[in-house]
Amino acid sequence: MAEEVCCLKAQLKEKEKEIAALKKKLAQLEKNHTTVLELHDKVTPITSLTSKPALSNEDIMRYSRQLLLPELGVQGQLNLSKTSVLIVGCGGLGCPLAQYLAAAGIGRLGLLDYDKVELSNLHRQVLHGEENQGQAKALSAAKAVKRLNSTVECIPYHLQLSTENALQLIQQYDIVADCSDNVPTRYLVNDACVISGKPLVSASALRMEGQLTVYNYRGGPCYRCLYPVPPPPETVTNCSDGGVLGVVPGIMGCFQALEVLKIASGQGSSCGQQLVMFDAQDARFRSIKLRPKQPGCAVCGENPSVTQLVDYEAFCGSAATDKCRKLNLLSKDQRITVQDYKSILDNAGPHVLLDVRPLVEVDICHLPFSLNIPLSSLEDRKSEHLQLLQERISELKQQMAGDCQPPVYVICKQGNDSQKAVQVLEKMSGSEVDSIAVKDISGGLMAWVKRIDPTFPQY
Ligand SMILES: [Zn+2]
Repeated sequence: MAEEVCCLKAQLKEKEKEIAALKKKLAQLEKNHTTVLELHDKVTPITSLTSKPALSNEDIMRYSRQLLLPELGVQGQLNLSKTSVLIVGCGGLGCPLAQYLAAAGIGRLGLLDYDKVELSNLHRQVLHGEENQGQAKALSAAKAVKRLNSTVECIPYHLQLSTENALQLIQQYDIVADCSDNVPTRYLVNDACVISGKPLVSASALRMEGQLTVYNYRGGPCYRCLYPVPPPPETVTNCSDGGVLGVVPGIMGCFQALEVLKIASGQGSSCGQQLVMFDAQDARFRSIKLRPKQPGCAVCGENPSVTQLVDYEAFCGSAATDKCRKLNLLSKDQRITVQDYKSILDNAGPHVLLDVRPLVEVDICHLPFSLNIPLSSLEDRKSEHLQLLQERISELKQQMAGDCQPPVYVICKQGNDSQKAVQVLEKMSGSEVDSIAVKDISGGLMAWVKRIDPTFPQY
């Protein structure tokens, strides 16, 4: 009898344990279910963050390794939990930034991006996965952040930051991080931060280099103090033109996270008066002291002329996007379509196909029989390249009876550089090389992929 009682008691204890485990699992599932993320397509008012009176046992466990740091401590952790950060751009910089801010226990993250996840993003935008292709980046990033730390409040914004919405949005956050990839957005974010009195942690990355500065912080300069005039649009290179090694924005985004955390915790950033430059090739950081806030600055100076947001695309002469601009330098009769070129190929019409992309791009993919002379070599009149071109023209002249002008068709990736090349070649025709009939293949290789050969690689 006593043995039976003992046995039943043990069984009961076992069942109680099982029930407790099931309850815990259910609570976790319900918690995840209630934090369904809503994608915002416009700026709406949000409630202000309330500060926690103390850390919970779960907080202490989760953040224990950083709580041990005297630089942070309990007060620093509590400060993080009541800070909101707006991340402008959920790409190569924004992904690691959001990840580390969430991991460290920032209170609220606004995640803004107008793009969708593409395969060519994944080498550097490491919050997104293959299964997120086609999804709004802001939502994909918010979901990933929530998986890491469900206690962080995330607001994904699928919208383009504009003169109309920037102030309303930025006023609702404590710190702004610029992770954008174009000049008009940098000026827009800067001006909105100055007008709203918010510190701006700004970074950029291109090719093998990165930069970081904290603007409008503790009496330091703003972006306009240093760059009062935007650069000419044709001198600006973005990642889709110039390329970038994924880890470079990764490093710079982590660096941004560090400075945001220092500001948010109350420790303070020391990057308000300096520009930090990272050279990935030499594995070196350099720091340049910045000139101070300018009394004559148009937005943060003593008599500002910019007191409300302006038209930044007009101010910079370029669009607020990293998508390639379409140049229109030539007349209609100086260009042919990819379909026209395909029929020339099919009819075996004699011609020279001149590919003016840099060699590194030609190595990725090229059309057979193309002659590769980079635009820069044409512009610089590199003699070995001009000789090569002249040889091909001479061969063609021999094939073609009579004294007609041999046709030269120029191609590049998107159809911008090829138009510039046509202009250069027209100047050379009849003087530096024999007289030729030169035409641009409109839309370049990317039009070729779209309309003629979908198996040709896209990059
Ligand atoms: Zn300024």
